[in-house]
Amino acid sequence: MIVQIDKQLSAPEIQKTIDKIKSLGYTITQVTTQQAYYLVCHGKNEIDIRFIGALSGVKDVHVVSDSYKLVSRKWKVATSQVDLGNNIIIGDGSCSIIAGPCAIESEEQVLSIVKHLVENNIKIMRGGVFKPRSSPYTFRGMGIEGLKMFHNICNQYGIRIITEIMEIEQIESMYDYVDIFQVGARNSQNFNLLDVLGKVDKPVLLKRGISGTIDELLHSAEYIFSSGNEKLMLCERGIRTFENAYRNTFDINAIPLLKEKTHLPIIADPSHGIGIREFVPAIALASIIAGADGLIYEVHENPEEAVSDGRQTLNFSESGSLLKKISAHTAIMQNSTYN
Ligand code: PEP
Ligand code: MN
Repeated sequence: MIVQIDKQLSAPEIQKTIDKIKSLGYTITQVTTQQAYYLVCHGKNEIDIRFIGALSGVKDVHVVSDSYKLVSRKWKVATSQVDLGNNIIIGDGSCSIIAGPCAIESEEQVLSIVKHLVENNIKIMRGGVFKPRSSPYTFRGMGIEGLKMFHNICNQYGIRIITEIMEIEQIESMYDYVDIFQVGARNSQNFNLLDVLGKVDKPVLLKRGISGTIDELLHSAEYIFSSGNEKLMLCERGIRTFENAYRNTFDINAIPLLKEKTHLPIIADPSHGIGIREFVPAIALASIIAGADGLIYEVHENPEEAVSDGRQTLNFSESGSLLKKISAHTAIMQNSTYN
């Protein structure tokens, strides 16, 4: 059960309401987010909620039987929106596009990609400066100086930045230069990091773990939300299966299922999802049809020379052609006879 409490209620009044709910056999976690104050109550699912609704300061009550509660669609029917300012909103029903290189490499590289994004009206750029690499001998990112350069350029063009955070200690130094913190697949269950990101007032994109189940992803999201951060999005990026004909198996099933289970926006990553450049557009389009709120994909002026993930990275002409197809699909899907 989720009980939303009026933030203005006095501490003694809150305590009275808490004691009353506890006396009914519930354990309570108090959650204060940027937007609201909730009591997340675990216990029986069958209760006459009129009784709870009548307690002092109670604004809203929802019975949520899922073990993850705050991210469940059972209490919040509308998709949550993540507002990045200047009318850049994820989860508003349009397909948000995030594009950029796997890794930030140089000023020239960032400038060339920014130019491509501006030409195509893309407002959010991805690019890692701390790269989790399978081998310690490969490029591990430009670090904080690279992030400052990335931010400086994007800032001039009104482009928002998403970049991966790998550990708690990086948050403070990255904070001023990041619009969305990306939690990568390898950190999807780093609960200490998730807890701390819950206390940060910046949006988070949480990726599914390499072998993560949907249930695990939703519970990881619950860590962030219940620590206080409602500005949250999930990302399907493919999972490891027995199939090795491609890098990962993009789980298209996850998209409609997640849309049904959670109110959080769902972003598809077709680049890591299949890992083969030629097929990225097909998976991107399939994701949109499956109901994704947005896409994050890798693009580079010259993917053959990219320092990481070139094999799954689109060049500008491939990216431009994908964007044209996305617009055509969006137009069809907005046609009421299609729906
Ligand atoms: C990335 O987005 O560059 C990345 C490393 O992704 P993932 O965490 O999904 O492997
Ligand atoms: Mn990558």
